[in-house]
Amino acid sequence: MAISTSVSQSDLETAVEQRRNFAIISHPDAGKTTLTEKLLLYGGAIHEAGAVKARRAQRHATSDWMEMEQQRGISITSTVLQFDYQGCQVNLLDTPGHQDFSEDTYRTLAAADNAVMLEDAAKGLEPQTRKLFEVCRMRSLPIFTFFNKMDRPGREPLELMDEIEQELGLQTYAVNWPIGMGDRFRGVFDRRKRQFHLFERTAHGSREAKDTVLDLSDPQIEDLLQQDLYYQFKEELEMIEELGPELDLEKIHAGQMTPVFFGSAMTNFGVHLFLEAFMDYALRPSPRNSSEGEIPPTHEDFSGFVFKLQANMDPKHRDRVAFIRVCSGKFEKDMVVSHARLGKTVRLSHPQKLFAQGRQSLEEAYPGDVIGLNNPGVFAIGDTIYQGRRLEYDGIPCFSPELFAYLKNPNPSKFKQFRKGVTELREEGAVQIMYSADEAKRDPILAAVGQLQFEVVQFRLKNEYNVETLLEPLGYSVARWVDGGWEALEKAGRLFNTATVKDSWGRPVLLFRNEWNCQQVEGEHPELKLSKTAPVV
Ligand code: GDP
Repeated sequence: MAISTSVSQSDLETAVEQRRNFAIISHPDAGKTTLTEKLLLYGGAIHEAGAVKARRAQRHATSDWMEMEQQRGISITSTVLQFDYQGCQVNLLDTPGHQDFSEDTYRTLAAADNAVMLEDAAKGLEPQTRKLFEVCRMRSLPIFTFFNKMDRPGREPLELMDEIEQELGLQTYAVNWPIGMGDRFRGVFDRRKRQFHLFERTAHGSREAKDTVLDLSDPQIEDLLQQDLYYQFKEELEMIEELGPELDLEKIHAGQMTPVFFGSAMTNFGVHLFLEAFMDYALRPSPRNSSEGEIPPTHEDFSGFVFKLQANMDPKHRDRVAFIRVCSGKFEKDMVVSHARLGKTVRLSHPQKLFAQGRQSLEEAYPGDVIGLNNPGVFAIGDTIYQGRRLEYDGIPCFSPELFAYLKNPNPSKFKQFRKGVTELREEGAVQIMYSADEAKRDPILAAVGQLQFEVVQFRLKNEYNVETLLEPLGYSVARWVDGGWEALEKAGRLFNTATVKDSWGRPVLLFRNEWNCQQVEGEHPELKLSKTAPVV
């Protein structure tokens, strides 16, 4: 029998009210590492910016993959950075960056309550941001937009906002408005308090920025800003205030309107203002869909789900960590919970709190928090654990892979290990496995969203299963599941420029060389419904 924890309803409500959880979505080089670091700096979690960066530089400098993994430790894929701000606990779910891009990046968004969309103001929307945005949209996550690098020449603020409106179909509301740009970037106007924040550059922003705050009506402002900048600002402000929408919190929480901020993470411009507004507007941990309907975070019984598994690559420490998002109730160390899929009980010992610097042990956690548990093979992606009445949270779907390769085992005597390894790595969610629709081709096809996933699979097959493998890349880059399965596919007849494979559950998946081929087939066969994601069964 599971032992229930004792937490009063009001303590639980307070804990939920004090939690904010988010992930940053961006394209490489937009400044995610820099912004993360500055958020930690303002959150008082680090005292001098540079810690996160130094760790990253170290990572890149190491050539040996194995060593690299050790360096990266728990941070190779997403970890959680926690800090206290204004009496609240902020959980930043760190999504893996460029070289590390994998399905974990998408899965992390399944555990997030809010997303911060970070764009380089000179570039606007970029491909990886769009992909991650689509995943946020599936969950209707609230999106906060931060236009970074305002200290460099960039695109016009209005044009950047228009791009979001037109291409993502999100309404924009500028919470602050920039004054100048590039060499003439003088700060921002905060529409919440109707104050100017004029910034002074600090040495690479390693300390909190000093800013001069002036009211909108302060006569000094005209002297402090050059005349042309001042008039341009006035004109733009008038325009967005007259023509732009009102701030609508409900729309923000429904993922239909995005609050917009301008700043420069490197020099700290606007980071503080962003964080303050974020604390007010962000969605608190909210109810989640389950087999028993929506479960509110204040539900008295603890529950959560696994969104990521992390294998330690160091053979001396063969531990696996399961990352669990707490959804309801209170988590306590050594708690005994039910495992929905296996139908058995598990004791949650050695929980870990994860931070940039390493792991710390953890005594308790609340909805919106993430805990790391040593995973002796009992957890898979999407698993639900709970106390009290049985429930299962909606699973995390498979996401459309973009890289495909046959995985070959050249040594027939290793067949058993090969098969076991491939099955276990698939179950763990390290990679998707597909098979050719042609029965004669038996080799599994690895399907991934990032190159690193291939490397991890080959490395682990060699180290943990003692099988050397070969990869034979396939020239496809787009995959779509066919709604209606094989029957629907057969009805559609012959399709050009596609290959048909089946996923681990025997469902048909179409592979295309490029997006254009995919659109062509969709155009020629409007009856064929294709999906970018598919449920895990
Ligand atoms: P990531 O790949 O998104 O994590 O990006 P980084 O944080 O590593 O930043 C990429 C590059 O942009 C680095 O050289 C940063 O110093 C630079 N950078 C980040 N933020 C700013 C900014 O606000 N202004 C300027 N000028 N450069 C920035």
